[in-house]
Formats: sequence, structure tokens, C-alpha cells
Amino acid sequence: MARLLARALDLLLPPECPCCADPVSDQGLFCAACFGAITWITPPLCACCGLPLAAAALGGAAGLCAACRRRRPRFAAARAAWLYDAGARRVILPFKHADRPELAGLAAPFLARAGAELLARAELLVPVPLHRRRLFARRYNQAALLARALGRLAGVPVLADALARPRPTPSLDGKSAAERATLLAGAIAVRPRRGARLSGRRVLLVDDVLTSGATAEACADALLAVGAGAVDVLAAARVPDPRTRPWRAAATRGGLAAGAEDNNVTRKGVTA
Ligand SMILES: [Zn+2]
Ligand SMILES: [Zn+2]
Repeated sequence: MARLLARALDLLLPPECPCCADPVSDQGLFCAACFGAITWITPPLCACCGLPLAAAALGGAAGLCAACRRRRPRFAAARAAWLYDAGARRVILPFKHADRPELAGLAAPFLARAGAELLARAELLVPVPLHRRRLFARRYNQAALLARALGRLAGVPVLADALARPRPTPSLDGKSAAERATLLAGAIAVRPRRGARLSGRRVLLVDDVLTSGATAEACADALLAVGAGAVDVLAAARVPDPRTRPWRAAATRGGLAAGAEDNNVTRKGVTA
């Protein structure tokens, strides 16, 4: 019966790639071109922040990248499914800006695979919050949708409103670590009535894109301050190395001007 219904639905709404709307065999699959354009993060990785390493030996005995050896972030570990390059942006930008909430359900299994270890030890999923002005403009918090989809998949409870962003923050793009810290000071807080639920819990913070890690660290700080036991981070995609930003150069070459992250997004994906 379910299969009959699915076939009837396919006749009415032929399955299409969620990124480019090309026809595909089954609902919820990427087409070969979009799937092939995504760069999947695979080991070896930094044991802490999940940065892909060119060779395992580069991580040394502790398996850490140079940045984590210099200073460990406030979160215990971070993982992401995809590198945030042109391929991942085809999925993430429409999810973020083009009113495509259903992409959360599509991305969640990939996050679950990349973050299997973190999900297994998580007691609570918490999304990175949006400021209410941005929430109003986008109509949904993409991190909260991802957290809910992951929670359903992994059977982990979600505390979607644990964190709030009482103050809007400008883009942290291109800012130094000190500037990011100043911009983020007091920008993220635990909602007072949520503190008790977090106390002693191992929290998995969920976001769509991990860039410098500064926002994730500010969230971790806020959660640890109210007594969370530990904080891990899971994102759909991460910037390969925030200092070099090769994806930015590639985007410009491909005809996407800088700033395309906030513009140039249509129902069919990203246009030049
Ligand atoms: Zn496609
Ligand atoms: Zn690292």
C-alpha cells in the first residue's frame, strides 16, 4: 500500500534533485552531478576540531591539527559531513536563504554518519541560535531544523530553545580572533529557564556551517557556564581552513561574486 502510494506520488510529483531540480530515480536523492560535486570529509582528521589532515602523521601523537595543538577550543570535539566548497554551497545556501526547510531531512543522515561518535555520547542536541530579526526574515532556524531531524534519526532529545542570541552579530568573516571575540561577547546566552535541563549533560551543538569555530566556542562557553558536562559540535559543512578560504577564490572564479552567500539564491539553487 505504501509503495503504491509512493508510486502514485511519483507520478504526480516526479522526484527531482533537491539542489538543481533535475529528475532523479527516488525522492530525496541528489542527482549524480550534485552528489559528485560534494567533497565528503574523510579521515585522517584532527581528533579535536575535525579539520581534514593531508596525512595522519601530521596530527602527531595526539592526532591534533596545528591550531588545536596551540590552543584547544572550548568544545571537546567537532565534526562535519562536507567541506564548505562550491558543491556543499549548492545544498546549504538554498537551505539557509531560499526557504527550503526540507533540505534538513536530506542532510541529517550525512551529519549522523560524520558525527556518529559524537551522537553516541550526546545526551541533548542544541542548535546554534539565530537572532530573532534573522529568524523573522528566514522564517526558520536552519540549525534547529537540522537538530530536530538528527534527534529523530538518532533518538536523542533536542532542546531547541536552550540558547538565544539576545544581540545580533555582524558577519565574522575576515575578522581576527580578537575581533571575533569582541563581536561575540554577550551575543549568545542560555535561556534562564533552560539552565537546569543542561546541568551535567553532554551537549551536542548543531549548526549548518562551521567557519572559524568562534560562534561554536561562544555557544560552548555559555553552555559550560550553566554547568553542561561537555560540549561537542556537529555541522553539515565546515570551511577547510578559515585562514586560507579556498572556497572563496573558487566561488569568484565560478562567477559567484563575493557576498553570494547572502544573495543570488533562487528556488532552483544558486545562480550566478
Ligand atoms: Zn542536482
Ligand atoms: Zn584541530
